[in-house]
Amino acid sequence: MKKIGILGSTGSIGTQALDVVRNNPELKVTALAAGTNVVEIEKQIREFKPALAVMWSEEAARDLKQRVSDLEVRVLSGMDGLMEIAAFDEVEVLLTAVVGMIGIRPTIEAIQRGKAIALANKETLVTAGHIIMPLAKSKNVPILPVDSEHSAIFQSLNGEPKNRIEKILLTASGGPFRGYSKEQLQNVQLEDALKHPNWAMGRKITIDSSTLVNKGLEVIEAKWLFDVTPEQIQVVVHPQSIIHSMVQYVDGAVMAQLGVPDMKLPIQYALFYPDRKPMDGGRVDFAKLGQMTFEEPDTQVFRGLKLAYDALNIGGSMPTVYNAANEKAVSLFLERKIGYTQITELIEGAMNRHKVISNPDVSQILQVEQEAYEFIMTEV
Ligand code: NDP
Repeated sequence: MKKIGILGSTGSIGTQALDVVRNNPELKVTALAAGTNVVEIEKQIREFKPALAVMWSEEAARDLKQRVSDLEVRVLSGMDGLMEIAAFDEVEVLLTAVVGMIGIRPTIEAIQRGKAIALANKETLVTAGHIIMPLAKSKNVPILPVDSEHSAIFQSLNGEPKNRIEKILLTASGGPFRGYSKEQLQNVQLEDALKHPNWAMGRKITIDSSTLVNKGLEVIEAKWLFDVTPEQIQVVVHPQSIIHSMVQYVDGAVMAQLGVPDMKLPIQYALFYPDRKPMDGGRVDFAKLGQMTFEEPDTQVFRGLKLAYDALNIGGSMPTVYNAANEKAVSLFLERKIGYTQITELIEGAMNRHKVISNPDVSQILQVEQEAYEFIMTEV
């Protein structure tokens, strides 16, 4: 029996992780956390019977406490609650599937307690990779990627030492606006950006996929997970999303992981690693698929990807600015307060005015996040 805690259980990754648990009696959910969605988490608590449940908002926690007062579950709130899950003895693997930098502190706490991390929350490594990865190494704690691309790289690397990697080929669907000109992007509406061609995901990451900022965040995440240089990470647009990413070795051999686009596979792989368990669901029918195509990303039109490489090359606190400015800009776009192309303009503006801190600690990272948010609010 493997005991897992899920931060962000009511979201896209969280609910798919619970599907994986439903199909695998060897997994036991012992702790759940969400932001405000009490209705969904109550259902989850009744089905999975965790010992601990956390709501970010105090009000939601009070409401939840009443709703589940007939059950034996401890209900907590806020960062203290998330930290309690991270430290909980009954959690062996912590799946971090919240959105945003809220994931940093609980991830650090869980690593310090020796728990394996199944990492979906990419903002954690983007902003604090320089803290998380050395800490995980020193505690001998595995960081198991849940992002489909990083899971594909992880699977393609299985058994090979790092010094044999020539480069990582990070695939991208190209999003709904692949092939658009700068002028065409000006007219993009929220409804268009929320339609991803291949993946069903949360709202924020769906917008990030359309701007290629998601790919930019993944480039930074890949640097930390696989300890490679920015030059060793090449983004390849592959619209069919069948190859989830590849590793090119020093002898020119390329290893890839393929499959239908379904997040349950990387989630299950991370939860059972190093085992591989059966999973129902779609299979690639190569004859039907016919062909797979590849192209270079257009970083002139999709500036978000170029800015990620800039942030990575500058390093220090710059990836935090990249991430935080994007987070704020995307939430404004989701509220229809700014236009689509303003998202990357605002990221660039925030990066241009930032004075880099070379090795920020967690409180400096959170301070930089706050400053980037404030900058964006003064610009709109
Ligand atoms: P969603 O928006 O669908 O879900 C976010 C989850 O986090 C919800 O359960 C939400 O609760 C919870 N949450 C939000 N804020 C807090 C908080 N302050 N405290 C506790 N819980 C909180 O996001 P996704 O599942 O799409 O993405 C989650 C992470 O995984 C992101 O970092 C994303 O980049 C990454 N990821 C997602 C992929 C996908 O396919 N969706 C693929 C690869 C990576 P509530 O419902 O109550 O608001």
